[in-house]
Amino acid sequence: MGAALHLAHVQQAPVRKRKRKGGGSGGDGYDALVARVYQDQRMTPEARELILLLAWLSARDPDRYDTDGTQISWRKRASKILGEYGPGPRRGSRLADLVYADRPRYEDKHVEWGQRVCAAPMIRRAGLCGQHATDRDYTVDQETGWRTAVWYCRRHEPWGRDLRAQRLANPGPEPIPNAGGLITSYLMAEGQEEAWARLYKEAAVWKIDSFWEPSKTYGVVADNWPTPGKDPIPQRARLRLVLGGADLEGADA
Ligand SMILES: [Zn+2]
Repeated sequence: MGAALHLAHVQQAPVRKRKRKGGGSGGDGYDALVARVYQDQRMTPEARELILLLAWLSARDPDRYDTDGTQISWRKRASKILGEYGPGPRRGSRLADLVYADRPRYEDKHVEWGQRVCAAPMIRRAGLCGQHATDRDYTVDQETGWRTAVWYCRRHEPWGRDLRAQRLANPGPEPIPNAGGLITSYLMAEGQEEAWARLYKEAAVWKIDSFWEPSKTYGVVADNWPTPGKDPIPQRARLRLVLGGADLEGADA
C-alpha cells in the first residue's frame, strides 16, 4: 500500500476555519447511518470503526476542506487520524489493517475443540464413532459452495480419505462470501465497486496476503450476496459519502 495507506504525515496547509452550510444538520443521513451501523448484526469492531470514521470524515469533519474549499482526500485524513505503529521502515498502517479486516471472503465455520469428534458412522451399532478426532475433511454444499468440517479419528482415516476423494470429485461452486464487505455496503457510491476492489487488494498486499482476490462472481458488497433461504436485502439508501473514484485511487496525489 506503500505511500497510500502509509501516509501519516500529510502536508497541512494552514486552514482557515470556515463555516459550512449543512454540516451537523442530520439531514444528510449521517445520524441514520450511525444508528444503522450499531444495529447491524453482521458488524465487526473493525468495520464499525472504519465506517464510523469515514462517515464522520465525509459528513462532519470540520477540517475536510482545504483553503480553496476543496474537499481533502478522505484517505489522507483517515491515514493521519488512524496513524501508524511499530518500528522499522515499513510501519504498520491502521487504515490498511481495518480495510484488510473487512476484505470480502468466505470463512469456514469455526468448530470448538470439544466438538471435534469422529463423525464416521458405526456399522455394528447405530450412531457415530465419537472418538477424539485427529484430522478432518469437508463436505461441500453444492449450491452455496460452503464447507462443513467433518472430523475423524485415527482408526477411521480410510473413511476420511474417502471423504476427501468425494470432495475432490465434486468441489462445488465458488463459495458465496460470508465475511467482510461491510464498508462497501454502507459507503460505496454507484460505479465505485472496482475502485473498492482495488483498495481491498492494496490492503491485502500491504498485509502481505498475496492470495486474496475479489470475487468476480459475487463482488465486494455484502448487501449483494445471496443468503440461502433468505430474501435479498432490499437496496437501502446509502449515505453518499464523497469518496469519489479519484479519492480512492489518487491518495498520493
Ligand atoms: Zn472414528
